[in-house]
Amino acid sequence: MKQIRLRAAAKINLYLEILGVRPDDYHELVMVLQSIDLSDTLTLTSIPGHQIRLICPHPLVPVDRTNLAVRAAELLQQSMGIDRGVEIALKKRIPVAAGLAGGSTDAAAVLAGLNVLWDLGLTQKELRTLGASLGSDVPFCVMGGTALATGRGEVLTPQPPLENLHLVLAKPADLQVSTAWAYRTYRQDHLAPGTVVERSRTNALLAAVASQDPARIAASLHNDLERAVLPAHPEVAHLRERLIEAGALAAMMSGSGPSVFGLARDLDHAGAIHAALAADPHLETFVCTTQPTGVRLEKD
Ligand code: ATP
Repeated sequence: MKQIRLRAAAKINLYLEILGVRPDDYHELVMVLQSIDLSDTLTLTSIPGHQIRLICPHPLVPVDRTNLAVRAAELLQQSMGIDRGVEIALKKRIPVAAGLAGGSTDAAAVLAGLNVLWDLGLTQKELRTLGASLGSDVPFCVMGGTALATGRGEVLTPQPPLENLHLVLAKPADLQVSTAWAYRTYRQDHLAPGTVVERSRTNALLAAVASQDPARIAASLHNDLERAVLPAHPEVAHLRERLIEAGALAAMMSGSGPSVFGLARDLDHAGAIHAALAADPHLETFVCTTQPTGVRLEKD
């Protein structure tokens, strides 16, 4: 095989709680992560030699070794002793630095795609373990669907798939938020040194997810990072209010933001919420649906 194309799904956080800081300086987290049908497309083509070449015209996406997709390919070359090259053509649709795991899902797609292109025979579990060394969200992006994530986000417990939950995703067009900054700010302002608050409140959300009832899910959403990001970026708080005013069952920031999602009862309801925001030139908006997969091989 010379070329394959993959779709790499974005994720939203239905739940994000920061329990404390670990001795290794990572945050101890409890999250519920969900894949959605907003995705990047990656085309991987075998090239002679052992170069890893990335083509991506998006102005905010680096094409050097700092790109997570390149780092994923390098990791496979090094850990598997591979002496083959690849060109990665990346078409970004997932907003960058938006709390949607865009870079992580591209890395997950490269791991899964090169596993096929280079005939490596790695299991999904092995790909997840490799992915964890690239970033805490990468293992979830490899697995996709609905999962409870603990540890620093890499310990995954799959949940029954959440079918056809419709939502509107919106983001201030010119705002990016650094994940590192959001966690640092939360830590400074809301975590006493060494605190590990042990109890988490995911049970209500997981029961709501299992019920597939949008209204129950809406009542159990939670994201600690809103306490860091909303005061610093009032436009994100405002966007959350606008989604509620437009009729969303609930609205919350995803991950470290600034993306905000509003839950809808059904697809028509999502369309109506979207219509209330779509004309605003200062926003990027999407109608999305939950999906059971993270990375998907595209058939020609
Ligand atoms: P997360 O939700 O996992 O915290 P994010 O969605 O907020 O991440 P990304 O879109 O992954 O953030 O981008 C964060 C930064 O990573 C960008 O500013 C960019 O410089 C860099 N980056 C590296 N690789 C990629 C990639 N493949 N796509 C987008 N950004 C990338």
